[in-house]
Amino acid sequence: VPAFACVPLCESPHMNIHEYQAKQLFVEFGVPVVDGQMASSVDRAVAAYREIGSEVCVVKAQIHAGGRGKGHVFDPKHYDPETVTLDEAGVPHVAAQAGFEAVLDGGVKLARTSEEVQEYATKMLSNLLVTKQTGPAGKIVNSVLIEAATQIERELYLAFTVDRAKGRAAVIASAEGGMDIEVVAERTPEAIHKQWFQPHVGLWPFQARELAFALGLKEKAHVNGFVKVVLGAAKAFSQIDASLVEINPVVISRDGEVLALDAKITFDDNALFRHRKLAELRDLAEEAPAERKAHDHDLAYIKLDGDIGCLVNGAGLAMATMDIIQYHGSGLHSPANFLDVGGGADEAKVKAAFEIILEDPNVKAILVNIFGGIMRCDTIANGVVAASKAVGINVPLVVRLQGNMMEEGKQLLRNSGLDITPADDMTDAAKKVVAAVEG
Ligand code: ADP
Ligand code: MG
Repeated sequence: VPAFACVPLCESPHMNIHEYQAKQLFVEFGVPVVDGQMASSVDRAVAAYREIGSEVCVVKAQIHAGGRGKGHVFDPKHYDPETVTLDEAGVPHVAAQAGFEAVLDGGVKLARTSEEVQEYATKMLSNLLVTKQTGPAGKIVNSVLIEAATQIERELYLAFTVDRAKGRAAVIASAEGGMDIEVVAERTPEAIHKQWFQPHVGLWPFQARELAFALGLKEKAHVNGFVKVVLGAAKAFSQIDASLVEINPVVISRDGEVLALDAKITFDDNALFRHRKLAELRDLAEEAPAERKAHDHDLAYIKLDGDIGCLVNGAGLAMATMDIIQYHGSGLHSPANFLDVGGGADEAKVKAAFEIILEDPNVKAILVNIFGGIMRCDTIANGVVAASKAVGINVPLVVRLQGNMMEEGKQLLRNSGLDITPADDMTDAAKKVVAAVEG
């Protein structure tokens, strides 16, 4: 049975935002959060603490990754990811000879005085936070959220996502707040409760109440507070075209209030054109350089972990190209990326695409697969020649051109003097690129 690529097409590019930004959106949709302010300097953090006026506050590192509470902060000047391994709980272990240690345990810290706020902000800002989700590479903390501390009675889990099998939105709740949902799903699947809804219809209040009862909430104030959080978050999820809204934890405070204490929102990039203001929340510093570059050149790029780079026009053809590489790769070779240069690919775009593919050290060969429809094959051939000269491609290049002005395109490649292997059809192209990798 052919092992076709299970390429996560559903993983169309996603934009993440910070917790403090997600909480600002929550407020607009009526989801209660605690008082807080973002700060990107120590002075601002201390001023925020005074302005919030709560004696006990939390200082929370803002990075696009979870697990911060149990994370560890390092000074990037002395940090070497090669010498660090993370155990199952996400705790980093530094090799004995490495000679450095964490500056701070925890990326979420309780502070009782302005001196403590100052200390934690100093230790977090510009430093590297390593969590289970960031892996040993960690992420630089460029801002912190100063937030009033809540006295927590109970922590619950709540998330909204798209259930592709059901073709509807799903809301997932569990009584195990603060735990990774994957762990809960594995150990105690019965603790996870779900409801489904159509985004244009919305979640019914009775569905939110059923979740509240399933989590064992009894007091009227708790049930009503939880329903408010669920309905507000459901509305936010639908209206902003999110692919994920996760609140871990939703807490019941000692005063009986129900609040979103953490907030993660992921948007579907393909819907961002409908939300100009949300698109501005993008934090390029958080994104991988290759993704940033792809975004700048309007290229749809998703990194995978194979060894054959793909440069294709059209998402469908790109998918088919990955499948056929996976098939002929016989489990030994697979696509290194999804890349759709789009319909109007010009030389600059093709060049950027080559650069992005070549930045991945795993890439051992590249397959260019172009179907000339409105796009002329000779235009693409010129782009490929110019780009390969400019970029200096140092891996085997297999090019398949088909369609409009195909003969002219092939002629251009032949005349270029470049070491390009031409291919006639998809199977031929896939076999040739696999053979090229195997040398
Ligand atoms: P992460 O999921 O990245 O670890 P969270 O925002 O969930 O970050 O914070 C981790 C834990 O810290 C929470 O589960 C909660 O127990 C505690 N916490 C977070 N914010 C507050 C707050 N405002 N008041 C009191 N405790 C908090
Ligand atoms: Mg959390």
